[in-house]
Amino acid sequence: MTHDRSEALFARASAVTPGGVNSPVRAFRAVGGTPRFIHSASGARMTDVDGHEYVDLVGSWGPMLLGHAHPEVMAAVQDALARGTSYGAPTEVEVDLAEEIVGRTPVEQVRLVSSGTEATMSAIRLARGFTGRDVVVKFAGCYHGHVDALLASAGSGLTTLAVPGTPGVPETATALTRVLPYHDRDAVAALFADEGDRVACLITEAAPGNMGVIAPDPGFNQFLAQTCGRHGALFISDEVMTGFRASRQGQWGLDGALEGWTPDLMTFGKVMGGGFPAAAFGGRADVMAMLSPLGPVYQAGTLSGNPIAATAGLTTLRLATDDVYTHVTTAGDAVKDAADKALSDAGVPHTISSAGTMFSVFFTDGPVRDYDDAQRQDTAAYAAFFHAMLDHGVYLPPSAYEAWFLSSAHDDDAVATVLEALPHAAAAAREASRG
Ligand code: PLP
Repeated sequence: MTHDRSEALFARASAVTPGGVNSPVRAFRAVGGTPRFIHSASGARMTDVDGHEYVDLVGSWGPMLLGHAHPEVMAAVQDALARGTSYGAPTEVEVDLAEEIVGRTPVEQVRLVSSGTEATMSAIRLARGFTGRDVVVKFAGCYHGHVDALLASAGSGLTTLAVPGTPGVPETATALTRVLPYHDRDAVAALFADEGDRVACLITEAAPGNMGVIAPDPGFNQFLAQTCGRHGALFISDEVMTGFRASRQGQWGLDGALEGWTPDLMTFGKVMGGGFPAAAFGGRADVMAMLSPLGPVYQAGTLSGNPIAATAGLTTLRLATDDVYTHVTTAGDAVKDAADKALSDAGVPHTISSAGTMFSVFFTDGPVRDYDDAQRQDTAAYAAFFHAMLDHGVYLPPSAYEAWFLSSAHDDDAVATVLEALPHAAAAAREASRG
C-alpha cells in the first residue's frame, strides 16, 4: 500500500504549517506514521489522496452523525449557497436552528457561535458576569477547547490551584481555575466548603469524551448541579461532544431528564453544525439576558450564525430522529462486541466504556473512572492496533484517548469491514504490548 501523495502533501504542509496540520491530533504524533490526506468522503467511508478507502470511525471527531455528504444536507447547503454565504445580518435559518436547540434541550435561550472553544469561553465569561465572581472549577481530563483559563492542570499535591497546561498561558490566566479529579465528590464538596462563595461556575463535560469516553456515575451530574445551586454558582454542562450525539437530547437527555435537574448553561457544537463551523451556548433566560446587546456582558462574532453552517446544522438536527440513534446504537454495539471479543481472544488488556451512543476502547484493565485511570493505557499497543486497522481499511482516531464515532450511514457492509479488521489489529496490539 503506497501513500506517496499523502507523504508528498505532508512534506509540503510541514513546510508551511506547524507540524503539517491545522489541529494537532491529526498529525498522527500519538501513533506515528504519516497522516492520510483525505480527498473525499461519502456515507461511512473516506477516500484518501492515494485512492485508499477507509470506513471512518472518527466522523470529523463527532459531527457527522448522518455520515458524510448526506444528500439532504448537501441539497440544503447548495440551496443556501446560491443565496450568498454570509450577510452579517440576522436570518430565518438562525431562528429555526435556535428553536430546534431550545426545543430539544432545557436551554431557554441560545446564542450561536463558530466553535466549541468560543462557546465555552463565552459561557464562562457570562457566568462570571452574572455571578460577579471569578473562580472556575473544572475536572482533570475534561477538555473544553483551547480557552486559556481552561488549559489548566491540577497543581501538585493536595492543592486544587491550577497551573497553566501549556506554555503561552500565563499563571494569571489559570490562577482562578480549580482542577479536580473527575467523579471525586469529596473534592468537589471540600472545594465548595472552602471557597464556594467565590465560585462563578463549575464546567464539566456532560459525559467526558476527551480522556476516552467515561459515563458519569448516576447522580454525579445531579450532585454537581445541586452543589452549584446551593452555593450560588452556575453549573455549565459542556455538550459540545455529547449534544445530539450521545442521544437525541445529548447526555442531558440520558441523565438530567431522568434525574430532574437542568444545567444553568450548556454548550453545544459538532453535530449541531452538520460538519460546518457552528456551535452555541445557552441556558436560563435570566442568565442569557446579561449578554450584549440586552445586558453588559460583551460577546460577538463576524460569522456567528453563518447561514450555510446554520443550514447544515438545522438540516442535520431535523434528520436526527430516534431511528438514527437506534441505528447508531445497534451498529456501535456490533463494533464494541467484536472489539471486545477480538482483544479478549488475543489476550490484550482492555476496557470498553460507553456513554449513550459514544464509546471508546481503553487499552488497560478497568475500571476507567477518571484521568489517572485513563492514563494507565498501553499507548504502544493502541498505536499498533490503530495502524493495523488502517491497513485493513478502518480509520480510527489517531490517539488512544478519543471516542469512536459511528453514523446512520454505517450499514452492514461498513460494519463488516470493521469486524474483519479487528482480529488482525488485536494481534498487532498483542505483539506491541509484548515488545
Ligand atoms: N468541548 C468539548 C467537550 C469538546 O469535545 C471540544 C472539542 O473537541 C470543545 C469543547 C472545543 O470545540 P472546538 O474544537 O469546536 O473548539
